[in-house]
Amino acid sequence: MSTPGYNGTILYVNLTDGSTRVEQLDPDLVQTLIGGFGINNRLMYDLMPADVDPLSPENLIIVAAGPFAGTMIPGGAKVVITTRFPINGAIATAAGGGSFAPFMKWAGIDHMVISGRAKQPVFLKVSQGQYSLEDASDLWGRDTYETTDILRKRYEPCSVIAMGQSGESLVKNSTAFVDKAGTIGRGGLPAVMGSKNLKAIVVEQGEVPVQIADRAALHRLVNKLHERIMNWPGRQLIQENGLMPAPPDLSEIHLRTRSPLACPSCPLADKVMVCLDEGPYAGLQTYMPHFATTRLGATDSAQAYENSIRYSDALNRYGIGGTNFSGFFGQIVDLFQEGIITIEDTGGLELRNDIDTAIQLIRMTASQEGFGKVIAEGPEAIARLIGSSGEEYISHIKGLGVVYDPRMRGLGTMEFEEITSPRGAHVSAAGSPSYDSGRTLVDFIRHGERMGAPAESLKRMEEAGVFNPGIYSRYSEDWYALFNSLSLCNRAQVNRFYHVNTIAELYSALTGIQVSPQQLMHLAERAWTMGKLLNVREGFDRRQDRAPETWFRPLVRDGQEYRLHDYQGTAELDRQDVERYLDDYYQERGYDKETGLPTINKLTELGLEDIGRELNLPDR
Ligand code: SF4
Repeated sequence: MSTPGYNGTILYVNLTDGSTRVEQLDPDLVQTLIGGFGINNRLMYDLMPADVDPLSPENLIIVAAGPFAGTMIPGGAKVVITTRFPINGAIATAAGGGSFAPFMKWAGIDHMVISGRAKQPVFLKVSQGQYSLEDASDLWGRDTYETTDILRKRYEPCSVIAMGQSGESLVKNSTAFVDKAGTIGRGGLPAVMGSKNLKAIVVEQGEVPVQIADRAALHRLVNKLHERIMNWPGRQLIQENGLMPAPPDLSEIHLRTRSPLACPSCPLADKVMVCLDEGPYAGLQTYMPHFATTRLGATDSAQAYENSIRYSDALNRYGIGGTNFSGFFGQIVDLFQEGIITIEDTGGLELRNDIDTAIQLIRMTASQEGFGKVIAEGPEAIARLIGSSGEEYISHIKGLGVVYDPRMRGLGTMEFEEITSPRGAHVSAAGSPSYDSGRTLVDFIRHGERMGAPAESLKRMEEAGVFNPGIYSRYSEDWYALFNSLSLCNRAQVNRFYHVNTIAELYSALTGIQVSPQQLMHLAERAWTMGKLLNVREGFDRRQDRAPETWFRPLVRDGQEYRLHDYQGTAELDRQDVERYLDDYYQERGYDKETGLPTINKLTELGLEDIGRELNLPDR
């Protein structure tokens, strides 16, 4: 009998010999690492040796649905996938929305461990009690949307994780898609799938009910949350305008062509489907996590809107993803026009800021053709192409392109965590108030209390009178680890409704495991540290937790110059200041400041001393 909230199962799939088997999930893992992200990290540590080539059959893809998936808990819908990412060799976990995690749960599976390499293209089909590898030769060469549509037609109701042509060409700067609308695995999950000849994973909706320890208590808690969400004025705004409203000149056409989309159990519906209803691309239908404007040389609003949709559509279909490409496209066009990237570098391709160039380069990236090969490798390759000054132009951390630039917004947790995340420049702030500018110290203290940060740490920050991203990020990361271990969406608009006390109550009602908020955050800290240890084993330490050179140079936007400054905008920052914040971060984590490594002292406190000894980590 498994713990309520869990199926108590791990599905092992060996692509090399085509075998599948289901084993029991060790109940001790549930007690010590919650689920999802936490258990994935431990499975990865135990099942995959160090130094595995990310594109070899030995790399694992571990997929998980945490305990909140498949329940009515709002936002309990995130599937999490752990693998060794080819863009930088980090072992990390990505999360995506859509129906996959609930469907996986209802098919009776908590975790899937996929290993090996199939001889020819296959997709993995998971149904209740049945697991098979199916021929995918008719899907090979197809994009993420076509692949999803074909599989949906065959198996509806189902959920699909698909890779596009970028995965088949082993593009490291690529992203997979869940049910067309959710992105997952920036940094080359598709390439890992491609190296395994695994085109997609489809899970059919099963009928395995999620066992609930105290149904009445869970309903009471969920009803309360629903009531608060439904009465939140922001929900109405998101439903009407989307998460990121279109600029005024595109607003009318956007409102006419968009429909909100939601993951199961989420009343917020902040994803968006757009279907162009007129013009040369009438009928083009695409999906977006939120609307992003990309005018690309348009001469009027209608064209600007069409360009934005065509551009997003191409990135999604090929499986590259907006974050991987948009950060560089404008920049490399500028560098080309300044003569820093030359026509010889691009193999004769004239780089212009227009839609045709963008689409051509997306296609070339997905097929690793000509100059596209450089973009396919990621930001470090682009910097290398420029030469010795490349790092001054291209923003990346551990080889992953920067998402939030602190020169415009200030160094909040969103930006600081890009430095400390083992995954690279990945935002894991989980709804930190620094998501918005202009928040006060009082806001941070209040949010810190919600995250279960110790009163003593918050008091220290309050007494200092300034926001310290080093101290704060430690708790923000653990909060993120908690959400991903539960399969709870950590977008700010969901996160804002959760307090650690509520999560502890929900978890206890669902699973019957009585946890206090402090115990829950202790488990989350262990889950985070387990992910850190995976990367320590691969040789990562403080040297890679380094802010990019670009941050210490002025950024010019619309004629205005921005320099790196603190979140509150009171002081400019230089590298020494950022390094001091890093000292504070390691100290708050209980890690060694010099090396950035977890100490045996800390690991003993977390029950991970054995791993610390295996890795020869410092005592204190
Ligand atoms: S906020 Fe968006 S991504 Fe998160 S669960 Fe809701 S619809 Fe899905």
